[in-house]
Amino acid sequence: MDDEARLAALGRLEILETPPEELFENVVNLVRTVLAVPIATVSLVDRNRQWLKAQRGLNVNETSRSVSFCTHTIQQREPLIVEDAHLDERFATNPLVLGGPRIRSYAGVPLRTPDGYNVGSLCAMDTKPRRFSPADIAILSNFANVVSDELELRMIARSDYLTGALTRRGFEEELQREFDRHARYHRPASVVFLDIDHFKSINDTHGHPAGDQVLRQLADVARATLRPNDVLGRLGGEEFGVLLPETGAQDGFVAAERLRCALQKHTFAIGGLQTLKVTASLGVSSVAGHMSAGNWLAEADQELYRAKAEGRNCTRMTDLRMAS
Ligand code: GH3
Ligand code: MG
Ligand code: MG
Repeated sequence: MDDEARLAALGRLEILETPPEELFENVVNLVRTVLAVPIATVSLVDRNRQWLKAQRGLNVNETSRSVSFCTHTIQQREPLIVEDAHLDERFATNPLVLGGPRIRSYAGVPLRTPDGYNVGSLCAMDTKPRRFSPADIAILSNFANVVSDELELRMIARSDYLTGALTRRGFEEELQREFDRHARYHRPASVVFLDIDHFKSINDTHGHPAGDQVLRQLADVARATLRPNDVLGRLGGEEFGVLLPETGAQDGFVAAERLRCALQKHTFAIGGLQTLKVTASLGVSSVAGHMSAGNWLAEADQELYRAKAEGRNCTRMTDLRMAS
């Protein structure tokens, strides 16, 4: 297997170093109970280590890759079963076998991404030799499917539940695609970074649910104002991005200003009869001559910062040095 491509697939999952999560915790608890083993882990095989998304009975978050059983499991499609590590030359002198936690038997099922990379494995381990029955392996395989599905679902969650805009990850993917198109075909494109002005005081004055309603309506106004091909993303709490394909600097600035004015005109309804006026600051950057998609967005963010510093409710853009 091409380990670089596999590591890239693991990277795309954005799971390494994330905090414990209930589903993975539940799976290792269930594996331990149902298979009656003292140790169960969700292991992800990184370049030089295995990192444990969840573990019971090991009490470490990672081990070096070279000593891990899982680095063997991910070499194959089928489960790896070791009934007695002392009798298996691959593991007989392994420090995890000879010393703590004294692993003696092991069953691991590869965790496979939809594009076919084994990124890690779901493992059951015992400190005694033991047989794993076909039923045990079937159960472990089913749990491994649950884990793989969860990893996939997390990756394809591209829409933000509150506003229906793309998530930051989804937006960044679109941005990268547009950037690549520019690099190959020299198509123009612009990106807008928008941040609501004094949003904290909206929350403080009217409550968090009212703030949520503002976010939802802002996304509606943006969608009504933009073109169908434009891409709206929620980049953070009250920060949005707009990707404008086929739009050069001048037109990008005009589109951002149209959005800013539409928001300024809009009356936000926040439950019952209460209404509210809201403004936003915007930074724009067009794609020409940038180093990377990340720099492109960062430049729009810098311009947004300038818009905030220069009084809010305005649009700033490097290329044109235009001001509203
Ligand atoms: P500025 O004009 O400088 O942008 O001021 P601000 O108050 O908008 O900026 P700041 O970044 O200090 O505050 C952002 C606030 O957005 C803080 C946070 O409570 C709120 N927020 C973030 N996400 C959400 C959300 O999902 N719902 C609601 N209601 N509020 C959110
Ligand atoms: Mg902000
Ligand atoms: Mg703000």
